[in-house]
Amino acid sequence: MSVRRPELGRFGAYGGRYVPETLVPALDELEALFLTCAAESGFHSELQGLLTEYVGRPTPVTDLPALSAKTGYRVSAKREDLCHTGAHKINNAIGQCLLAQRMGKQRIIAETGAGQHGVATATACARLGLDCTVYMGETDCERQRLNVVRMRMLGAKVVPVTSGTKTLKDALNEALRDWVTNVRDTHYVIGSVAGPHPFPMIVREFQAVIGREARATCLECYGELPDVGVACVGGGSNAMGFFDAFLADDQVRLVGVEAGGLGIETGRHAAPLTSGRPGVLHGAMSYLMQDEAGQVMETHSVSAGLDYPSVGPEHSHLKDTHRVEYCSVTDDQALEAFTEVARLEGIVVALETAHAFAAVLQPGFAAPGSRVMVNLSGRGDKDMETAARLLGY
Ligand SMILES: *Cc1c(COP(=O)(O)O)cnc(C)c1O
Repeated sequence: MSVRRPELGRFGAYGGRYVPETLVPALDELEALFLTCAAESGFHSELQGLLTEYVGRPTPVTDLPALSAKTGYRVSAKREDLCHTGAHKINNAIGQCLLAQRMGKQRIIAETGAGQHGVATATACARLGLDCTVYMGETDCERQRLNVVRMRMLGAKVVPVTSGTKTLKDALNEALRDWVTNVRDTHYVIGSVAGPHPFPMIVREFQAVIGREARATCLECYGELPDVGVACVGGGSNAMGFFDAFLADDQVRLVGVEAGGLGIETGRHAAPLTSGRPGVLHGAMSYLMQDEAGQVMETHSVSAGLDYPSVGPEHSHLKDTHRVEYCSVTDDQALEAFTEVARLEGIVVALETAHAFAAVLQPGFAAPGSRVMVNLSGRGDKDMETAARLLGY
């Protein structure tokens, strides 16, 4: 693994470490250990072994003929939905839990909104014999009951957070508080390319396997790179992992799709890159949905996994430098794409992923004949109740 290390922990003006001083030694230790492990073949073979035998990598790239006929592009998908637990999040959870083991930290904490990152972390902990505590807003616990059951099934302790709006940002605060108190024996597994340095770098590197595989498969099967790469953006980890391998290929257009919720103009969305301003959340400077006073705004999205008011700092930099284009689609557009992909291709994608497909389905998204590769970040089984309610099934 050759690691792209951000200078001083910053991506342009973004990133950094806006955390209590007591955490700085732990962040330094984590960065040093990660860089050591990344250069070490023993760590590689252990990680690769788990990714192959346990997660099911490499995941395939699937041609989507009916979507291609409909859009006039040559559409294919990188199938992260076929990973164990049904999404890309496990790539990072396994990687970070291995790092924790190397640091001699037996206790893992995580925070989760929709519960997907909690499930991935609980899974990795079960497999590696680590103790797992997951913070989750009380409201989210009610909304995502099945994931709470799943985490407990896997042996994790789920702590409902009752402060503030009882959602993700409150769970984030609680997890950081726990980490400050127990940092000696505890590793905090952050679930996206967010948080203080070195987390955005580490999570990107653990997810970069997606783009590496996608690029290699594309060259092997088609003899060329894609013209366009598309991914949905919540915290930004599946997009960052997918984009990473193509950043140096100037001819590959990269598009990140945010959750436009009820419409950007309504203020009820989760699209900080589309309509936020730089600010600090979760220990990092990045585009953030905030009010006039700098208070973090409530988010809304049909997909719980995109419901995050900020975004990984590297995305903010990629937006400002125009290397990646960011756009948003509404709940309705995502739901339409969700149905379309299921009917046309027989793949029930996650509602998060449906946002990426919705962008591709917009008229004039790309030139006719373009080779468009979508990162299919996860499967939609978890979204059946929402679909039943909203689509009237
Ligand atoms: C969590 C999740 C996302 C959003 O998280 P990122 O860090 O932006 O990737 C997207 N798709 C699926 C399937 C998810 O579970």
